[in-house]
Amino acid sequence: MGEKVYLRAVPDYDPSRIKKVIREGLEEFGLTGSQYSNITIKPNVVMVHHRIAPSAYTRSEFLDGLIQVLHEDRNPVPKITIAEKCGAGIPTSRMFRRAGYFSLKKKHNIKLRPIEEAKKKKILLQKGQIHSHITTSREIVDNDLLIYTPKLKSNSLTHGLTAAIKLNIGILCDRERMWNHNCHLDEKIVDLLEVGHPDFIATDAVEISIGGNQFTQHGYPLGLIVMATNPVAHDSVCARMFHLDPHKIPHLRLAHERGYGPLDLAEINIKGDISLQEIQDKTKDLKTGFIRVDEVDCGFKVLIGEPYCTGGCHGVFLDWLYMIKDRKPKLWNKLPAWTAVIGKYSGDISADRVLIIGTCSLVQGRLEAKKIRRINGCPPKHKDLVLWMFLKTGIINPMFRLDLIIDAYPYLFFCWMRRLFKGSFK
Ligand code: SF4
Repeated sequence: MGEKVYLRAVPDYDPSRIKKVIREGLEEFGLTGSQYSNITIKPNVVMVHHRIAPSAYTRSEFLDGLIQVLHEDRNPVPKITIAEKCGAGIPTSRMFRRAGYFSLKKKHNIKLRPIEEAKKKKILLQKGQIHSHITTSREIVDNDLLIYTPKLKSNSLTHGLTAAIKLNIGILCDRERMWNHNCHLDEKIVDLLEVGHPDFIATDAVEISIGGNQFTQHGYPLGLIVMATNPVAHDSVCARMFHLDPHKIPHLRLAHERGYGPLDLAEINIKGDISLQEIQDKTKDLKTGFIRVDEVDCGFKVLIGEPYCTGGCHGVFLDWLYMIKDRKPKLWNKLPAWTAVIGKYSGDISADRVLIIGTCSLVQGRLEAKKIRRINGCPPKHKDLVLWMFLKTGIINPMFRLDLIIDAYPYLFFCWMRRLFKGSFK
């Protein structure tokens, strides 16, 4: 009956326990055997930092268990590559290091491939609505087993959920990734399924993140591994774990409408040692944090206009607010009174301090303020918003830290030089 989703309870990040469970998952989906010699693993390493982003990424212990299974009883051992592009404007190699993936590389003799530094391949899309083509690393395209290992998290840029389908935004390098990262984000993500269609998904939901910014939200011990081969069925079940209706999550609905898989439980065969109901009982009091940015109750007054870009300025600014709420509660309680305008706002504004966010944003009415500041971008990257908010309003976001500044500027420059040297800019 239908596409299978396999749910397994796992109490902690013990790699040997994870190995056993994933082995049983691969058996369940008929993916064991020695025919795979060239395997690519795509994790979620969007942001890693021991203090302010400790729960946003696929843990190395999880990948350790997976790689042990893939190596088990194989002679010769398959070539395994971990390929990923982390959050925009930061070098993936730094996030790999922070996530402990260099130890994995040493332990298992695998390759780490920051996608921006890899040799690329351009692929023409047949069904793309936003992208007619995309460029990604060869490892995402040329493999005989593509395994996705998302982290189960809430995400206010994508209507509350990030799981297997949203993971695809990390197969793109920054310029292509940020292009149409606005009210078209959902169509964009679904376009990517044509290239990034996993053969197997093993989701790290041992500790999930829920309720704030995708980088900075706090972890919650759900104790679960979700396995599947169909990303739509997988994400549909994950949405229900967060008490979300998958039909109301546009990238899931669009993926279903384009024929990538089922949304309804009647067409999904859920198996395993823990039921969806048991998981929902555990998560019943958790909130995804997905609300409109003008509904946030804080010192900022947010005025919105069209277009409302959940995946663009509106969502990115909501993330910026949540970063403070998640990691700087004292500042959250005394945020200075600014009026933020996002989108084309119809009406008059009279305020002390006005901040206009987004290249297209403007006030269609009379604007009276002692101070008017503007931050451009469509949308501004999270990193740029953190910096410009500091420079223009003096507010120090928790992401504004010396070690992350070193990652995001001098180290990024060093990586650019390395790419130039290796000829991997294209
Ligand atoms: S600049 Fe305008 S269109 Fe672009 S993301 Fe921001 S609000 Fe949306």
